[in-house]
Amino acid sequence: MTWSKKGFVRKIESMGTLDGPGVRTVVFFGGCPLRCSYCHNPDLWKTQPSDLTTIDELYEKISRYKTFYGTDGGVTISGGEPLSQPLFLKSFLEKCRENEIHTVLDTSGFGNAAHFDSILKLVDLVIFDLKEPNPFDYPKLTGVTKRISDQFVAKAQENNVPLWIRTVIVPGHNDTFEKMDELAVEINKIKNVEKVQLLPYHTMGNSKYTELGIEYPLEGVPGMEKEKLDELFVYLQGKLDIYK
Ligand code: SF4
Repeated sequence: MTWSKKGFVRKIESMGTLDGPGVRTVVFFGGCPLRCSYCHNPDLWKTQPSDLTTIDELYEKISRYKTFYGTDGGVTISGGEPLSQPLFLKSFLEKCRENEIHTVLDTSGFGNAAHFDSILKLVDLVIFDLKEPNPFDYPKLTGVTKRISDQFVAKAQENNVPLWIRTVIVPGHNDTFEKMDELAVEINKIKNVEKVQLLPYHTMGNSKYTELGIEYPLEGVPGMEKEKLDELFVYLQGKLDIYK
């Protein structure tokens, strides 16, 4: 079944090795309802008519690299927020499954919950961007409620989908051991976690805000230092069940 033949894809990057196992093609869906203060892709918040593509065109592009995927690699669907185009996402996931291409969904978990189950039945691995463990702080960072992403994670567990969990660490915002304690409590509640990663906040997307005429919420905040990030990660690992 094809749910939607057309959708918005901003760019495709081949031969990636960071967003999931093995060698991967990363497909960036356009559109995102969140407004994370550290977002380095504000140019992907809105879809553009020029991004419109069909399932067949998209599949043709990603299948060019099929021989490089091997047994581990495949396609990672990122964005933007891929869940903002649920019907197109399902059609693309189904096309990949029919052709035995491994799929990773890189998502905040925010979308229309009515589609979560049917999407997750077609996904091989989720990279879940756990933006913030505290439900009161979550909307301040993202502009949306945490409740929806909680529902997404619950559905992922119901469907036994393996998860990698990622959190961006921003100096002066969540670079504390107390926040690592909160993260650990949240992550330890989730089953099927295969990997946890802390990502350093960086300032490379700042100029996009200037170009788009949008005020940058983290103006003046420096990039996250690697040493401090490593220190926080070692501390976090010590609290996580999956590393015990
Ligand atoms: S979910 Fe991703 S694309 Fe959307 S605002 Fe947050 S960081 Fe940016």
